[in-house]
Amino acid sequence: MLKDKCGLFGIYTQKKEDLFHLMYLGLSALQHRGQESAGIAATDGSAMYLQKGVGLVSEALHENKIGKRKELAAIGHVRYSTYGASVLDNAQPLAARYSGGVIAVAHNGNIVNANNLREKLEYSGSIFQSATDTEIIIHLLARLPGKKIEEALPSVLKELKGAYSLLILTNKKLIAIRDPWGFRPLAIGELNDRFLVASESCAFDIIGARFIREIEPGEMVIISENGEKSIKFARQDEHFCIFEFVYFARPDSRLYRRDVYKVRKALGEELAKEKPVEADVVIPVPDSGTPAALGYAHKSGIPFDFGIMRNRYVGRTFIQPTQFTRSLGVRIKLNPLPDIMNDKRVIIVDDSIVRGTTSRMIVKMLRDAGAKEVHFRISSPPIKFPCFYGIDTPNREKLIASSSSPNDIAKFLGANSVEYLSIEGMVKAIGLPKDRVCLACFNGKYPILE
Ligand code: SF4
Repeated sequence: MLKDKCGLFGIYTQKKEDLFHLMYLGLSALQHRGQESAGIAATDGSAMYLQKGVGLVSEALHENKIGKRKELAAIGHVRYSTYGASVLDNAQPLAARYSGGVIAVAHNGNIVNANNLREKLEYSGSIFQSATDTEIIIHLLARLPGKKIEEALPSVLKELKGAYSLLILTNKKLIAIRDPWGFRPLAIGELNDRFLVASESCAFDIIGARFIREIEPGEMVIISENGEKSIKFARQDEHFCIFEFVYFARPDSRLYRRDVYKVRKALGEELAKEKPVEADVVIPVPDSGTPAALGYAHKSGIPFDFGIMRNRYVGRTFIQPTQFTRSLGVRIKLNPLPDIMNDKRVIIVDDSIVRGTTSRMIVKMLRDAGAKEVHFRISSPPIKFPCFYGIDTPNREKLIASSSSPNDIAKFLGANSVEYLSIEGMVKAIGLPKDRVCLACFNGKYPILE
């Protein structure tokens, strides 16, 4: 499985109130975007408080600290590491004191010229506290003393290449930023005069908030006692990560005015049109393949059923850091229902194949449960290239589709057939113009490189 880097959630309220519970719920709704650490930075208008810890939101955050104060604003972060190890030092938000005051930063994405920038900064005297690319932003800001933060930020952001949806908190302001390419989502919401910002709209739903709009690529939104101000800091060159639709975003989120769940069903329908096969039942790899499997079954007329049950009380496989624990995870978490597939021709639908090791175990599981034929159908094109924009992909040699044809992959998995959705079919199902999305992990055409 691929891993998203992070989720962001922020609140600004004129009233000053206990923000812990809203922050906790908002971050919990984004837990699928990062499960290695969680953190909140909050300000009461004059002092900033930071709380972060390793693990899920429920493990990392505790009411007894932040919940005691009346806060003006807060930003929060859930993390999966793609740059910097999974340790507390690298958990976010990152906070620092510089000549402009106290600042906290939370980041979703990956800065592709981070190594270069860090080298230059270290050469000229910067000492880094963490191994994250995010800290570079703080060091760049510190080099522009005497400027208001919103005046300094455009020059800082011009130095950055790659994916960065950012939340920045000072003692007076909350600032939300989306990079000019708009790789990662970031949306604005509202709850009874509270200004909200989140990676996905599902974080608004959980607290009964209203989705207002997505932040535009190249836009910076500043919230302060003077209200909301929007600044375009760069020309928009939109390349939204299409994998947010295919897999990363929660199905109950809305992106680009589209319901993610409906898009995933449409991907399955397109797949059924492009890659039909005679079979008795369509089953999903739970839960990632469920909407696409429903779409496939609907379009093909082949009955849908749940052939595999997931044990929900073991963490998601993909956050396990080693191959050994990952392989254990599949056996622990997925259990087949032999009655559904005994002596049947089974179509199993998933959103992607990365290394192929998990899919191979699933095929064996289905065969052991009595399936007569196993046909793997994938609701995205073959992943042939690594991602440099905030998704943790293995290097090219480990991406099975980079060197193997669908037939070779079928042999490796032990399946009767393996077929993928085409790039054209995927783009059609999503309904965004091809030149407005990133397809680099499928076609190697990177919108921006270092
Ligand atoms: S390379 Fe793939 S995963 Fe990375 S941003 Fe582009 S579409 Fe998304």
